[in-house]
Amino acid sequence: MVANETIKKKGGKRKITILLTIILSICLLFTGCTDQQKEDTLDLLIDIVVQILSPDETTDSTEEPGNSDIPFAVEGEMQVHFIDVGQADATLFIQGDQVMLFDVATAGRGDDVVKYLQDLNIDYIDVLVLTHPHDDHMGGAAEVLNNIEVGKLYAPDIFDIMEYNKNGEPIKPPVWYSEMMTAVNSIDAQLNKGVPKNQQTSIWNFPVNEDGEFEKFTIGDAVVQFYAPLEDDYSDKNDYSICAKVSFGSIDIMMTGDATTAVEKALLKQNYDLDVEIFQAGHHGSDTSNSKDFLNEMSPECIVISCGMQNKHDHPVKSVVDLFKELDLPVYRTDESGDIIMTTDGTEYIFNVEPGTYTSGKEYNDQKGK
Ligand SMILES: [Zn+2]
Repeated sequence: MVANETIKKKGGKRKITILLTIILSICLLFTGCTDQQKEDTLDLLIDIVVQILSPDETTDSTEEPGNSDIPFAVEGEMQVHFIDVGQADATLFIQGDQVMLFDVATAGRGDDVVKYLQDLNIDYIDVLVLTHPHDDHMGGAAEVLNNIEVGKLYAPDIFDIMEYNKNGEPIKPPVWYSEMMTAVNSIDAQLNKGVPKNQQTSIWNFPVNEDGEFEKFTIGDAVVQFYAPLEDDYSDKNDYSICAKVSFGSIDIMMTGDATTAVEKALLKQNYDLDVEIFQAGHHGSDTSNSKDFLNEMSPECIVISCGMQNKHDHPVKSVVDLFKELDLPVYRTDESGDIIMTTDGTEYIFNVEPGTYTSGKEYNDQKGK
């Protein structure tokens, strides 16, 4: 799962300097020669230099000025598909030959996610992240797990909170939860066939490792760093959201699920590098997320909102789209544009659609009523 980051030798410039030094030294030896002799010798040497350098040129592109902040060599592109699943999230990251799916839409729409992946000939998900225990993020988990093989699943520890309410009374879990756990248990049973009990594992991993640090791993050459959940005793399930920064070259994307402004505030207090180019709006553009301080710290260049047209929550909320407009941030919206695909080479990025409007969810709902 955790592929090594490819660090390429950046020896191109040094090689050129050494060769030029040799040329100059030889030229100095020829100081007694005629101009024509010097010119011929130089031409010959330049030919040799070009031949020596040419095989390396393709692998040394990361040495270009301006790319010096790229922490690792960039090969190919990363694509991020913000799949249109109505009022829900399902975001697919593809880099190299690895994929990560970030949330799986609602129960009943997990099949749409499966079809979307199958249409892309994806039959294996390296990492599946289920941000938090709400239907619009985790609901389609069983449909995905039962149809596409998953290497590793990350989700917060939700087992207790799904079985008991705040007063300690047992509650009946939703159907999608039971179906998801059935799928997880059946995968675990396969994994642990013939494995001694004390060595058995689960496909279900928590976002924090054994050393208490948030997991960091790679999808191809893209680096995924989890930042949250920061606590294990939230009253609002949204705050269990796994937050992550996905970096490919110098392009960073922030994903915060439905984490509220309380979590955003807590993230600002951590020693995190929150600077990104692209932010998937928190909680589908709700005003319970997307605080100005958090946006200012991230200083994104654009926003993606995953929400359903004329949804019952009025997402995205007017004050939030107004804030995006005030900050001069283009907004890409699944409710207006359908599936949104961002492609990046690690230096620049493009979207498959034009930016959308700053129309709020309520304004769209009011239009429906007329
Ligand atoms: Zn949500």
